[in-house]
Amino acid sequence: MTYDMIMIHFGELSTKGNNRRLFVSQLLHNVRVALKKFEGVYALGARDHIYVELNGADADEVIKRLQQVSGIQRLSLVAKVSKDFEEIAAAVIELIKQESGHTFKIKAHRVDKTYPLDSMQLSAKLGGEVLKSKLGLEVDVHNPDIVMNVNLREEYTYIWCHDYLGIGGYPLGMNGKVTMLLSGGIDSPVAAYALIRRGIKVECLHFASPPYTQMAVIDKLKDILKVLNDYQEDIKLQIVPFTKLQENIYKYVDEPYCITIMRRMMMRIAVGVAKKNKSLAIATGESIGQVASQTLESMDVINDVTNMPIIRPLSVSDKVGIINKAVEIGTYDISIRPYEDCCTIFKPKKPKTKPSLKECEFFESKWDWQSQVAECIDNVSTIYIADGEESYPKAKGEPLTEEIASKEAE
Ligand code: ATP
Ligand code: MG
Repeated sequence: MTYDMIMIHFGELSTKGNNRRLFVSQLLHNVRVALKKFEGVYALGARDHIYVELNGADADEVIKRLQQVSGIQRLSLVAKVSKDFEEIAAAVIELIKQESGHTFKIKAHRVDKTYPLDSMQLSAKLGGEVLKSKLGLEVDVHNPDIVMNVNLREEYTYIWCHDYLGIGGYPLGMNGKVTMLLSGGIDSPVAAYALIRRGIKVECLHFASPPYTQMAVIDKLKDILKVLNDYQEDIKLQIVPFTKLQENIYKYVDEPYCITIMRRMMMRIAVGVAKKNKSLAIATGESIGQVASQTLESMDVINDVTNMPIIRPLSVSDKVGIINKAVEIGTYDISIRPYEDCCTIFKPKKPKTKPSLKECEFFESKWDWQSQVAECIDNVSTIYIADGEESYPKAKGEPLTEEIASKEAE
């Protein structure tokens, strides 16, 4: 007797009333996309669960893949049999034989209310059959070694004793799209993951200031996004040519205010790009108190440039938790590769931790940053990362990397 199916449990989705059908169909679509490399594996949707037929595929591999799909709370590796009692009992005995332990419990659930035995009766009767089969097991309803679940539904009965945790959250695509500011550090990829897990599609935006920042950072970002492809199969990476504007910031703004003004400019550009892409919000990897530019006072003057929502998924997370998450999702080793960010290059010795809006506006009155912001928005280059590979470049402005330039020439 083998387990031939995976049963997907939705968790939080079940509470969503009328939206439920939409949730299930989005999740079913995402599950099918995630499993497309497994030949013969097929997913079917129902009201309460999604069922995945393994058709001989390696169950561990399929489960591992499904553990990267948002919206899945729990997975059970199940055996499917008919609703015939004899058949159910034989399957339960066969499956229990494969387990190690001294005590067991049958946890039956009758979904089909027309079945003659109710859940309690079915559990008791199946338990009796297991005892009769003389496997040397005893019943323990409080703390059993083996819990055999029997789920008797309209058409079939599903039997299992192994559950696997999913990542939870919502199916990707249910909750809109945001423009994520991706830096190459540890935090922003974790923030991107948190959004994806919540069903929000991310498009990334990076500010590059060549020659002050190296092009190697773009490779690093691509590698990070290839890892994040496990959770969102295609991600857009947009690169803003930020050098000229940044040089002007350092020309016209007093050093302690440089980071604040730079962030305000980044936000303005991000909003422009987001609106072009029909993104509904901006997101960052900021965490309150982590560094000078991440105080509530700083965030206040940074937010002042736009009324578009700015989501900071890690705002109250601590660094240790963020690092652990980065390790878990696989971005940490890439994030710690040394690189120069536009923030570190021009880092002021004494950044202002409580900047005033008036001072910001004073510095910003010194030059025509508006046209430079518009120029940045117009000259964004785009790279697509899908299924762990760079798919195709679509550079609108000056190509920022030699690689893009050569591909463009083809
Ligand atoms: P991270 O680890 O994400 O780089 P950090 O702790 O180093 O974050 P900062 O460098 O102050 O913090 O950046 C805060 C946030 O601002 C980042 O999480 C990211 O969202 C955004 N950011 C910073 N630099 C860039 C950049 N060059 N391009 C795009 N976004 C950036
Ligand atoms: Mg950083």
